[in-house]
Amino acid sequence: MTVDSNTTRALIETVARRVIASAGELTDLDRAIGDGDHGINMQRGFEAVLAQLDQLAVQGLGNALKGVGTTLVLKVGGASGPLYGTLFMALGKALPDEVTREQLADALALAVDAVKARGKSDIGQKTMLDVLGPVLAVLRDGGDDLPSRLRATAAAAASATVPMKAIRGRASFLGERSIGHMDPGARSSALMVEAVADVMEGRG
Ligand code: ADP
Ligand code: MG
Repeated sequence: MTVDSNTTRALIETVARRVIASAGELTDLDRAIGDGDHGINMQRGFEAVLAQLDQLAVQGLGNALKGVGTTLVLKVGGASGPLYGTLFMALGKALPDEVTREQLADALALAVDAVKARGKSDIGQKTMLDVLGPVLAVLRDGGDDLPSRLRATAAAAASATVPMKAIRGRASFLGERSIGHMDPGARSSALMVEAVADVMEGRG
């Protein structure tokens, strides 16, 4: 499929608005096992992205995502700013404007690896990677009803971080006491995947 400027715009805008609308929820999650800034960090970053939406949308999908990544690095801060910045920059670098599902999966695989390298982290440590990894696997497999399966996988994967013990990030300072709470970055990643799935279904 060709991701034209209207779709690029819809993708970025829907992701940004969804994250901003959930800032309170993300902050509450981060208050439980972190320092309570994830929602406000992400809101600040995506408000800056929305302010650049007109310029971003006309640059082509790859450059637009690189621009989103740069803005997130500059504006989000915390641990998640450089990590989400890396994710979007790596995605943008790897994505042509005309993409197949396989190319999308290849690009997300590179981006997930870039986050792992940047965070010195891996799947199973109660972070955003515990959503991004399972989402990548579903994208890779493809098949019918992909948007609804991506959405369901992201939601289930975020919930699956509740019983996990944090090994990376601020929550790891809590050790066993990180168990029993959803990871805030896993939740923000799920929100983004849900937003992308909505745009794929034409209800962005
Ligand atoms: P900070 O922890 O600096 O306050 P945020 O609250 O904005 O930053 O983001 C916290 C989220 O970042 C965590 O919930 C987790 O998902 C993610 N995170 C933190 N460290 C890592 C890491 N090393 N690798 C992957 N994700 C991480
Ligand atoms: Mg925090």
